[in-house]
Amino acid sequence: MATARHAIIAGGGIGGLAAAVALNQAGIRATVYERGEDLRVGGAGLHLWTNAMLALESLGLTDAVRKTAPVQEFCEFRTWRGELLASWPVGEFVDRYGQPTVAIARSALHEVLQTGLTGTEVRTGTALTGFDQDADGVTARLSDGSTHRADLLVGADGIGSAVRAQLLGNTPPRYAGYVAWRGIADLGSEVIPAGSFRSIFGRGTRFVYYDIAPGRVHWMSVENGPAGGADGPGVLESIARRHLGWADPVQRIITATDESTVIRTDIVDRAPDAHWGQGRVTLLGDAAHPMSFNVGQGACQAIEDALVLAERLRTDDSVPAALAAYEDERKPRTASMQKAANILGKLGSWSNPLAVGTRHLLMRAGWERGAFKAIEADVRYGTRWASPAGRT
Ligand SMILES: Cc1cc2nc3c(=O)[nH]c(=O)nc-3n(C[C@H](O)[C@H](O)[C@H](O)COP(=O)(O)OP(=O)(O)OC[C@H]3O[C@@H](n4cnc5c(N)ncnc54)[C@H](O)[C@@H]3O)c2cc1C
Repeated sequence: MATARHAIIAGGGIGGLAAAVALNQAGIRATVYERGEDLRVGGAGLHLWTNAMLALESLGLTDAVRKTAPVQEFCEFRTWRGELLASWPVGEFVDRYGQPTVAIARSALHEVLQTGLTGTEVRTGTALTGFDQDADGVTARLSDGSTHRADLLVGADGIGSAVRAQLLGNTPPRYAGYVAWRGIADLGSEVIPAGSFRSIFGRGTRFVYYDIAPGRVHWMSVENGPAGGADGPGVLESIARRHLGWADPVQRIITATDESTVIRTDIVDRAPDAHWGQGRVTLLGDAAHPMSFNVGQGACQAIEDALVLAERLRTDDSVPAALAAYEDERKPRTASMQKAANILGKLGSWSNPLAVGTRHLLMRAGWERGAFKAIEADVRYGTRWASPAGRT
């Protein structure tokens, strides 16, 4: 039996910071090592489903999130010609579960998480390079040559995790076969009404957009192709050509984008692992269960991980037993999302006209009811953290 008093967290992304806040609130001191020179994430946006908002509410962070993040009312799915395939009334979640689904700039979410870091030591510009563990603790090896001993180590160091590599081997992630370009455009609220989310399907291409602040739109253009490419000046023109003839406001959004905000990402994931931790070392977020963007839940699951990890450490005196219980609890949920995201990504990347027609027939038939029901069940998981006022 060894109660956890001090945790080392590798990685200061959304998962690492959420874990630091949750552990701190559970009475466990955390030290975060972030390899970047400062704590920041890219300029893109995120969809935060109600399950993650309920988790954030229990950390006391949703008032700050809701000050900046527009509440999503409807998630619409359309063809590139503008025909409606399905519409999900996600705005209803707030009445049913107490928190809305929102869209937020990553940097804004990161700032909110940082406000909860009281008592946490954050050391930037320092990467974790490896670890050793024994019956009494774990020693992290760091890029500055120093070591740091604690009761447990959490690898929240993303898809290329060094903690994961030592635990499970250095297998590269799996390329999904498509590339995403993300950007931010400033348009008036009259062009993009508040709470708009649209996912638009073409042939081997997609375009997704949603507002992350009044009149400020985060968008993503996705196209099948090889990994490893790079962009130069003129990337926006080539994105605009990809979506030529698509229904309004796709071209207006691309035109209103500042090219310097465009981020290109080869989309990768991993199949679920049978195990991810060992003894006093565990993984969290993308280090544990990377999933493609197709379910919009990667960061949401990292936040959920953080809460469950803190709960298990608070209630179980043995650190290895608490980490094993955390992993057992998180694996089924995150594995099913990894699989669903992979399948949805395959459907979304179909390019054969017959296949695309069939996909749209299927979406018209079942997306609005069947798929929404499944999404709502995923979201409902977060009610375990709902405040009594939100539990209706
Ligand atoms: C195109 C796209 C769209 C997405 N949309 C959504 C969405 O709408 N909603 C959603 O919930 N999720 C979404 N996701 C997924 C989401 O971005 C990730 O799941 C989430 O960012 C994972 O957070 P993380 O903290 O686990 O990892 P990361 O964000 O990768 O953070 C890891 C951190 O660890 C640091 N690090 C790495 N190695 C080391 C080391 N050795 N030592 C110390 N520090 C280290 C890194 O610098 C980084 O700061 C999307 C992803 C993509 C690619």
